[in-house]
Amino acid sequence: MKTFVHRGQITKVIFGSGTRSRIPEEAAALGCRRVLVLCTPGQAGQAAEVHDALGTAAVGTFAEAVPNTPVDVTEKAVAYAGTVQADCVLAVGGGSAIGLGKAIALRTGLPQLALPTTYAGSEMTPILGETEGRRKTTRRLPEVLPRTVVYDVDLTLTFPAAASVVSGINAMAHAVEALYARDQDPLAFLMAGEALDSLTRSLPVVAQRPRGGEARADALYGAWLAGTCLGTVGMALHHKVCHVLGGTFGLPHAETHAVVLPHVAAYNAPAAPEAMTRIAKALSVADAASGLFDFAGRLGAPRALRDLGMPESGIERAAELIVRDGYWNPRPVERTAVHALLARAWAGRQPCTSPGDGHPRTESAAPHPTTTGAHHA
Ligand code: NAD
Repeated sequence: MKTFVHRGQITKVIFGSGTRSRIPEEAAALGCRRVLVLCTPGQAGQAAEVHDALGTAAVGTFAEAVPNTPVDVTEKAVAYAGTVQADCVLAVGGGSAIGLGKAIALRTGLPQLALPTTYAGSEMTPILGETEGRRKTTRRLPEVLPRTVVYDVDLTLTFPAAASVVSGINAMAHAVEALYARDQDPLAFLMAGEALDSLTRSLPVVAQRPRGGEARADALYGAWLAGTCLGTVGMALHHKVCHVLGGTFGLPHAETHAVVLPHVAAYNAPAAPEAMTRIAKALSVADAASGLFDFAGRLGAPRALRDLGMPESGIERAAELIVRDGYWNPRPVERTAVHALLARAWAGRQPCTSPGDGHPRTESAAPHPTTTGAHHA
């Protein structure tokens, strides 16, 4: 008999091409008359188009979103929202703009809409990661979940191919960890499998033809499902590793996910056979971890942490931080094995897929009883 817990979500999702034209009516449906548009500096053009379409319902644009949601930027945006008397925020962009929208919502109670343009998936999660000084903290807070998410495939056509590939693998990482999540939510398992099918099918096409609408739609659909997985079930070792590497060495978010994913899949493979079978099926390969590694290589994604700027001397410190806090993972998180995983990922070597090849295998298949799943995004 299956035993599980499922948490449903309340977000309204609109998906298609040209759907950004629905933003004015969706904002009005939430009772919003004074919309503040949020974006990163690079997407000011896309944000201006949406701002114009809102007409008098738009009261301003705050175009200073950056990764990792620094608190000082949020405070500046909250002050601006007060000045223009905004009654809701609309994030246009990837995880950086959406993270800012969540941080404003947390402080002001303003409702949020999101118009995502990457595959990071933050729009579907109640997770907020914020940085103060050099410290990043991540929390799960239902009140930061956007009320309405409008996916418009057209807005993703300008997302550069290389960035799209790593962002897509970032989404795949949410799906991979949902497959072996502690919650054992059957809906999340189904969504994760479908997400992997869509992303493994579409990303190679996107890499070749970034303006191809069909593959873009497939990739965005996969990203929506993967983001929903991230918002629904607890994550594990992979997200913890990326959180530590991003926070400690300032490594880029999506690229770090792309490098680390095959290695964590190899680490968890002995304790998560059903998940590995599903990943391998999506990739049409025999082994999930080496399949993920080859997939990233074929698409030209980075495969070595050293290429992202991590110093070799940081491996020891990262291993220490990764094992320090208790969190759930299908295979116990052991320092020597994590060190070996990081060393391989740092050098860009093949993931360790056979016993005796770098990762000590003292694990048992039983879940490791620590705290709830990690919710690092
Ligand atoms: P991002 O939002 O920083 O975007 C990366 C760059 O691509 C930016 O310069 C942006 O302007 C540009 N860009 C985005 N879409 C584009 C498009 N369609 N065309 C052209 N340029 C485009 O990157 P991201 O990977 O989406 O988000 C990373 C951030 O999101 C990190 O801070 C990460 O921690 C957070 N995140 C949070 C969650 C969560 O659930 N809380 C989930 C995933 C990521």
